[in-house]
Amino acid sequence: MSLFRDPVLAAVRALEEELSGGPRADLAPAVETLGSLLLEREGRLRALEREQPERELLAAIPDAAGLVSREGKVRAANSALDGLAPGGRAVGLTAMEVTRSGEIAEAARRALEGTPRRLEVQIGRRIFLVHLAPLVRGEVLLLLRDVTERRIADATRRDFVANASHELRTPVTAIAGAAETLLAGAMNDPVQARTFVDIVARNADRLAQLTRDLLDLSRIESRQWAIRLEPVDAAEVARRALMACDEPARRKRIALETAVPDGTWVRADARALEHVLVNLLDNAVKYTPEGGSARVSAAAGNGRVTLSVADTGPGIERRHLERIFERFYRVDPGRSRESGGTGLGLAIVKHLVQAQGGEVGVESGSAGTRFWVGLPPAEPARPGEVPLPGEAVTHS
Ligand code: ADP
Repeated sequence: MSLFRDPVLAAVRALEEELSGGPRADLAPAVETLGSLLLEREGRLRALEREQPERELLAAIPDAAGLVSREGKVRAANSALDGLAPGGRAVGLTAMEVTRSGEIAEAARRALEGTPRRLEVQIGRRIFLVHLAPLVRGEVLLLLRDVTERRIADATRRDFVANASHELRTPVTAIAGAAETLLAGAMNDPVQARTFVDIVARNADRLAQLTRDLLDLSRIESRQWAIRLEPVDAAEVARRALMACDEPARRKRIALETAVPDGTWVRADARALEHVLVNLLDNAVKYTPEGGSARVSAAAGNGRVTLSVADTGPGIERRHLERIFERFYRVDPGRSRESGGTGLGLAIVKHLVQAQGGEVGVESGSAGTRFWVGLPPAEPARPGEVPLPGEAVTHS
């Protein structure tokens, strides 16, 4: 640099000397140096101007994106691609160095030869859909779309459809078998006829319950079940839930009681909260042996009201506790089906509680099980009060 600047300094000095009576200054080397520096500056500015739209374009792409030069190095990258590179900067690195994927490196090589490539690659714990598109200048556009969440959702949906089909097939097969036996002659024997009609009725009930639960889940998930949050007296809702479970409880001689004090105001959707408590009480009745009891109670603390449904049943082994809120997860599938369970009750509970901005959990030991639901407290509703506009929310 100083070598270039020297002629300019020398020219200034020579000019000063000339003006103080010295010989005529030779300015040619200085002019030449300035000329070449100005040319270089112009070249750079032009390159920057040329690359500006390119950079804007890359920045606007929501995926990790970059341009790979003919030499196989990233020449331009957006911040998402920089984020993938080991040092946080992709420019100057090869596709292999940025992605640590031999497959992408090979695909980039083929794309530089003119063949577009599209592949799905796992990098670390994430899955990427990779596009490599040859461009006219001989460079390649590299795009990496993170499809991890989508792939997980696809797998969950596939599992769900398989499970639901399996659950639906069981009662349908039982109904078809019973009908066939009736038609084959059992219809004419009153005792046999009763047995098989019973099977049809029981399995039709099961089908009805299953489709109801599946529809509820799908309505909650697709947000068609609009949740309207307003002050709700949990004591009132608990009483209604208890009444709904009264008959099965009586049949099993299970004592149901509520200890929720009147005026336990929570911010909730009354219908959704009732559904939650009914599902929890229904489970308590289903899994508690005859002569046992179940109780709804409330406690306030830490800015929450916690409603509990506790039973004197056999409890749930620790290793199952984390999974029982999953769809179709059952500790004992035979037992659950036998008592009319669909395996969806707790999944519905979890979704409905979360949709109301609450939390749900379970504690269990040999002395029974306690499910709890934490909801925000609310000021009592004044008579005739309507919820404020905007309070009707759907869950996310
Ligand atoms: P199900 O229709 O099978 O009852 P849920 O989603 O409601 O489905 O419950 C999932 C599983 O959790 C049940 O199959 C059962 O094994 C267990 N479970 C739920 N509630 C209780 C309870 N109160 N006591 C013991 N086990 C329970």
